[in-house]
Amino acid sequence: METDYHHLDVIGQQIAEEQQAFRNELASINKDGSRKWVYTQETHGRYTTARNFVAYTLLLFLFTAPFVRIHDNPLILLNVLERKFIIFGIVFWPQDFYLVVLGLLTFILGIAVFTSILGRIWCGWTCPQTIFLEFVFRKVEKLIEGNVHKQMALDKAPMSGEKFARKALKHTVFLVMSWVICNLFLSYIIGTDELFKLITEPPSQHISGLTAMVVVSGLFYGVFSRFREQACLVACPYGRFMSALVDPDTVAVTYDFKRGEPRRKPSKADKIAGGVNEARGDCIDCGQCVTVCPTAIDIRNGIQLECVNCTACIDACDSVMTKIKKPTGLIRYTSANAVTKGTINHFSTRVKGYITVLLVMITVVTTLFLRRPEVEAIIMRQPGTLSQKVGDDKIANFYTLQLINKTFDPKTAEIRVLEPQGATLTPLGDYTRLAEQNVQHGRFFVAIPKGALNGTYNTIKLGVFANGKQIKEVKTTFIAPAK
Ligand code: SF4
Ligand code: SF4
Repeated sequence: METDYHHLDVIGQQIAEEQQAFRNELASINKDGSRKWVYTQETHGRYTTARNFVAYTLLLFLFTAPFVRIHDNPLILLNVLERKFIIFGIVFWPQDFYLVVLGLLTFILGIAVFTSILGRIWCGWTCPQTIFLEFVFRKVEKLIEGNVHKQMALDKAPMSGEKFARKALKHTVFLVMSWVICNLFLSYIIGTDELFKLITEPPSQHISGLTAMVVVSGLFYGVFSRFREQACLVACPYGRFMSALVDPDTVAVTYDFKRGEPRRKPSKADKIAGGVNEARGDCIDCGQCVTVCPTAIDIRNGIQLECVNCTACIDACDSVMTKIKKPTGLIRYTSANAVTKGTINHFSTRVKGYITVLLVMITVVTTLFLRRPEVEAIIMRQPGTLSQKVGDDKIANFYTLQLINKTFDPKTAEIRVLEPQGATLTPLGDYTRLAEQNVQHGRFFVAIPKGALNGTYNTIKLGVFANGKQIKEVKTTFIAPAK
């Protein structure tokens, strides 16, 4: 009988396409485009313990930082509306905004560098989305609906009194938690005192603020109760540009296919023999690594964009390996090159370049921060004024002054004329006493002998002194009447 090679080719192609389907489809979306709900099994192991520690430490920090006070300032305040930032008790005024922007850029670059070295480690370990979803909302869900098997059974079951009660309770608690999280984030923006006012004062006084809070709380509720892992898969921009940062030397959660393949479920003979056939790969195709995955992917298909490096599959597979008496680490933190070529994990030239840029950025930001003047002075000619005659031989100009004391100590401030010689400065009101962490406004006029002036527009030099020490030199314009 003649073999139908074409038919075999087609079948082979279909199998190859099915095996590569994960590249074109999201594991959490059905073929018809509908959502495939992801139920994740809980894991136990060293990475789970470490992640629990990191997550609950970060949650503790997140919930306490706005309430901790240093010199009466919150530990963290990111008031973008008034451009006032407090980071670890240090106040950054609008004049320091460049430092905040540079610091933010350095932070983003730091995440990019970490991604190129350790994959999406930010996503699985420190991202607020993951922390709240995995360590708060899913925990509450488990408390109310039971473990993942009970959750699946409850979802499949027809509506009953018990199902309705559990679902209603879960969503009510989710709504309350979303409201609390919204308040928490708001306390980072407007501060706890303003937030307290917003909550306690009559709603009619804060219609727009309360409306924004309801909208944001609804958004959080939608993300944590329904959208969930889709935020990491389709919405998060960081997840999208991650593919440009990783390379085969990136250390990420990786399946050791050389050791694991060919995978096969234990046969009857294996079970009778009480062990597994040594002649094949170590993967027994139990699927545990998939059932624990929060993004429902199969890490055995290789490093994928959807992998948030949560390490749940490492712990799941390690416990399987321990049970079948094989070495752990079939799935582990390593690079694709280490698995395929047996090389030792190292930094590629590209990553070394990223690290150099990051170190330069850190040095620049640190230097600028350390050189930041303790007292800032903004001096401008008073708008709408020209010049004024003082006696027979002097011309005066009026100036406005803004002094900012960025320190936690009171200061005495003084403005003196450095150039030209013979000029005098007369303060209008007392602006010399600068309270700590405060802004002081003032006015003064400078009078210059006519002989020291050269034409209509002259440049004069003023010195800003804090506690008797010159901290700044300001050049400004002095206008003389046209001759
Ligand atoms: S958990 Fe380990 S043994 Fe089980 S399917 Fe995954 S890789 Fe294979
Ligand atoms: S593949 Fe493993 S590390 Fe990646 S997201 Fe899934 S469980 Fe987490």
